[in-house]
Amino acid sequence: MKVDLYRHARERMVRNQIAARGIKDARVLEAMLKVPRHLFVEEALKDQAYGDYPLPIGEGQTISQPYIVALMTEALELKGNEKVLEIGTGSGYQTAILAELARWVYSIERYPELARRARRLLDALGYKNVSIRVGDGTLGWPEKAPFEAIIVTAAGPKIPEPLWEQLAEGGRLVMPIGDEWSQNLIKVVKKGGKLYKEDLGAVRFVKLVGKYGFAA
Ligand code: SAH
Repeated sequence: MKVDLYRHARERMVRNQIAARGIKDARVLEAMLKVPRHLFVEEALKDQAYGDYPLPIGEGQTISQPYIVALMTEALELKGNEKVLEIGTGSGYQTAILAELARWVYSIERYPELARRARRLLDALGYKNVSIRVGDGTLGWPEKAPFEAIIVTAAGPKIPEPLWEQLAEGGRLVMPIGDEWSQNLIKVVKKGGKLYKEDLGAVRFVKLVGKYGFAA
């Protein structure tokens, strides 16, 4: 039997960083307990993978702090049958969490090398319900729309219009909105074509770079 040396670290992470801060969705906690976060960071950072902070993943990008991953995921209210659009594949960690909780995940990353690495790892872990493509995620993935949930894991000045258009009726979109230095995590729900907005708190993400994001 293969011993998972990081199981305890993961249990501590879920208890002390995530459940203790008010994340309640049992499916989200279960997914965070299951996905081996240490495989999504560089070899040299493995022992820090379950710490309460983001870590570098190459190309000047970062894997988000575990609590922020849990908070954004819970806000999407996934029950298991959704098509989810993710902008900013990065390491693929958030993608794996989503793949545990939804029917299919469509994820877009602008750096080919990050997309390639994420693809390889998600394949090795056996995720079969994930499509990844390289490109400008602010344009969305129109051929696969509408999406019941959309998550943007990079910060932009506003919700990109194509993403709003590709959000299903009753759908949830979560994204950090602000300037390059500080943002607020915003959840919007689309109901009767109208937008209902909730502020989930101050955050700091890397830039969303694209047509409906920031300039490079
Ligand atoms: N969710 C990731 C963290 C991603 S960091 C994880 O769990 O590891 C944000 C990512 O968004 C970076 O990889 C960055 O390259 C990507 N990104 C920024 N602008 C983008 C855009 N317009 N389209 C697609 N990806 C973008």
